[in-house]
Parts: sequence; structure tokens; C-alpha cells
Amino acid sequence: MRHSSVSLDSEEKALRPKRLEEFIGERPFLQNLRIFIQAARARGESLDHTLFYGPPGLGKTTLAHIIANEMGGRILTTSGPALQRPADLAGLLTQLEKGDVLFIDEIHRLHPSIEEYLYSAMEDYRLDVVVGSGPHAKTLQLHLQPFTLVGATTRLGLLTAPLVARFGISIHVEYYSQPELAQIVMRSARILGISIQEAAAWAIARRSRGTPRIANRLLRRVRDFAQVSGNTFISEALAEEALSALQIDPAGLEEIDKKLLLTLVERFGGGPTGLHTLAVAVGEEPETLEEVYEPYLIMEGFLERTPRGRRALPRAYAHLGKQGPTPQLTLF
Ligand code: ADP
Repeated sequence: MRHSSVSLDSEEKALRPKRLEEFIGERPFLQNLRIFIQAARARGESLDHTLFYGPPGLGKTTLAHIIANEMGGRILTTSGPALQRPADLAGLLTQLEKGDVLFIDEIHRLHPSIEEYLYSAMEDYRLDVVVGSGPHAKTLQLHLQPFTLVGATTRLGLLTAPLVARFGISIHVEYYSQPELAQIVMRSARILGISIQEAAAWAIARRSRGTPRIANRLLRRVRDFAQVSGNTFISEALAEEALSALQIDPAGLEEIDKKLLLTLVERFGGGPTGLHTLAVAVGEEPETLEEVYEPYLIMEGFLERTPRGRRALPRAYAHLGKQGPTPQLTLF
């Protein structure tokens, strides 16, 4: 067991693009990021603090590593919930050298008291630490090297305004198109030494929910399937067979997506239903529905947001095998 998780981790690492030019997808932010990095390097400065926001698995962590590589610095990685005490933050910040990156994943889960410490660190590369307590407490001022804070969040709405304001660069990472995902699958297959037909890569891409992490995961599951069935080449037919044996939803929907659509259709007659009502009915936080699950359903035409609430679209009915509402006839 231990062994297989170790090898999976190293596969994950191998698949992660290390430089900007390896990052797949035509995104306007890539060009901007390239310019900001070049300019900061030319000035001999560290890159401005950068915030990446968007659903999970779209490359936020990858981009943090790319920034460190492109800037020629190191990266220290932590996450909002891992920073429990100011000393945890101080321990990381004081290790940073000029041009290094501190990556804080899930930065929306940072404790408010830690966040306060971060402000002066981000603004003035300074950290005021209180040593001791009561009348003997003293404030120690630590000077930090100019570093770049890279924050990642799936929930921009939960970040405080003062924190957001301290990021000089803010980038929305969005879902990938199927051609981009097929390209990612082909690239990953090349790195992992898997031979795969292009149409098979497309079959995987279609079920990847716009998400590179899912595309890579499905590729590995299909590879397992091919290996066990004694195939060295993944054809389209083999990929289709594997994906249906694995019971992967043909549109890439996850359990929670299906629950949301089914609830909307069965309990609320297809909507429009308010976000809060829907969230309670499926047992999720409204913000999670809004920022993590809905964007994909909206992009794929399963759901729409209207001023009166969420409404299921014909594709949702078709996917669930349900009869849509009868169109209202207007008689003249
Ligand atoms: P996030 O931090 O947004 O959850 P990650 O950066 O961990 O996502 O990305 C998940 C995986 O998807 C990475 O390990 C990488 O292999 C792959 N990936 C993400 N974005 C891209 C991309 N643009 N091109 C190629 N692979 C990508």
C-alpha cells in the first residue's frame, strides 16, 4: 500500500508542468504572468503577491510552482488550516530567501489572527511577533527577505477585503475545454509512457469535468484497465469500455452534481429555486454550490442562474432521463 501511494505521488509530480511553456491552455493570464515575471526579474525584484482562485484541480498549485521555477526561487508550501499559531507562519517566513515563494493553499481557511500577521509581512516584509505575555510581553520586529506570497482558493467570496487588496496580481483559473483536456491527456500519456489513440484521449477529456486533475486520474484508471486486459495500446473502443466499466458519468458529473440536479427537478419542479433553499436541500454550503459545483453545470448547459433562482435546463432532464416541463402553449 505504502509503495503504491509513493509511486502515485511521484507520477503526480512528473505530470505537473514545471515551466510556463508547458502549461496547457490558451489563457490571457499566461501572457500577462510571463510579462510580470520577466519585468520583476529584470528589476531584480520578487514577483508581486499573486492570488489564484477557481475550482479544484485546475492548476493553481501547479502555477505556484511554475512561478517559483520561472523566478529561480524555491517554494515553501503550506495551507490555511495548517497554520494554527503565529509561530507557524513566522517559522516559514523567516526561512524565505529573496525571490522565494510561500504558497498558501486554501487561503480562505486562514485563521483571522494569522491573517493579521500576514498583512505587514506582505506589505513591508516585516513581522511583528509578541514574545511573552502580560506586562512582560515584548514586540519583536523581524525583517523578512522580499518574497512572493502565492495564495490559492476555491472560495474567493470567503476572503476578507484587506487580504484580497494586498495581492498585486489576481487570477481567475477557469475550466478547460475538451480540446485542451485531450491535449493534457496526450501529454500525460507521453510522460507516463502510455500509448494511446487520440480519439481515446478525447473520450477521457469528455468525462473530465473541465478539470486536468480528473483527466489525469481517468487516464491512469484506463491504463490499469488496459494492463489487466493485456492491452499495450489504448484504443478509443478500449477507453470507452473501461470508462463505462468504471461507471464514470458520460458527462463527467459527480454525485453532488447529480444530487443537485435531481433535487431541483424532483423536489422543486425544475426551479427557479433560491440558492439557499437548494443548498439546504442537498446538504451543502451555499458558497460551495455557487463557487465549486455550479460553474461547471452552468458552462455545460445543465443549469442557469436567473434573478429568481436556479433553473434546470433541458440538458439536465435529458441526462437524468426525466421528462422536462411541458412547454406552455400560447393560444392566439
Ligand atoms: P489545484 O491546485 O487548482 O487544485 P493542481 O495545480 O494541483 O490544481 O493541478 C492538478 C493536476 O492537473 C496537476 O498535477 C497537473 O498535472 C494537472 N494540470 C493542471 N493544469 C494543467 C495544465 N494547464 N496543463 C497540464 N496539466 C495541468
